[in-house]
Amino acid sequence: MFHPHRWKPLGSVIPIPEMGSSGSIMEAGVAEPAHKRWYKTARWQRLRARQLASEPLCAMCHPRVTSATVCDHKEPHRGDEVKFWTGPFQSLCASCHNSDKQRIEKGGKPRPRIGPDGWPESE
Ligand SMILES: [Zn+2]
Repeated sequence: MFHPHRWKPLGSVIPIPEMGSSGSIMEAGVAEPAHKRWYKTARWQRLRARQLASEPLCAMCHPRVTSATVCDHKEPHRGDEVKFWTGPFQSLCASCHNSDKQRIEKGGKPRPRIGPDGWPESE
């Protein structure tokens, strides 16, 4: 009389993921590079503040005195986590940081135009 297999499965309702409700959970193909997030960290804010405190003047405007606002990677870090966090860094004003021409005039190496986040804009 007793059938051991007559148990009734409880969790038999399989949830079906809703498709196409908005489609904006992930923006496919435009994954943010990791270093963009690093700039938003408290660690970077501290590091930047320390750099600007120890070298408050723009290194490229020197000997002109311009207060620096940008903690610049002397060598492009290109997403290298070690370079990003260990530098070397230099303090720059915003216009020097954005000006590749001035970099060359001052005897620096030409390098790709660097965006405000320290990443080459044209690749
Ligand atoms: Zn400058």
